[in-house]
Amino acid sequence: MPYVYDPQNIFARILRGEIPNRTVLETAHSLAFHDIGPQAPVHVLVIPKGPYVTYDHFCRDASDAELADFARTVARICEMTGLQPGEGGLGFRAITNAGEHGVQEVPHFHLHILGGRPMGRMVAQSG
Ligand code: AMP
Repeated sequence: MPYVYDPQNIFARILRGEIPNRTVLETAHSLAFHDIGPQAPVHVLVIPKGPYVTYDHFCRDASDAELADFARTVARICEMTGLQPGEGGLGFRAITNAGEHGVQEVPHFHLHILGGRPMGRMVAQSG
């Protein structure tokens, strides 16, 4: 099934500079910024600059440079926000929602990095 990217999604508009964001880190291929509705003391979104809808889309079609840049950006965000376990931080939860069952609201791939409090169980028990 083809991935259809909507260039009017809110993160595409952030990347074009049409709406503001609170940037934590910008690299050649990635942008990290604070979530507008934080669900933990630290809630940063890491996105690729390229037009990828979901994580699997990104993993399938991104270049090696984009993939490496994204992974290194995640590591730098964990370090910059003090979440990095083993380096004095107490850890984090990384989440990416995809599609209808993943309850994805913004159709531009993003990784949530959440921390600064115990994050609880991974998935709610109710269906
Ligand atoms: P998801 O349900 O995984 O698609 O999550 C989308 C996330 O984007 C939510 O946590 C929103 O709070 C966040 N969000 C929506 N609009 C903005 C914005 N303009 N700046 C920062 N975060 C946003």
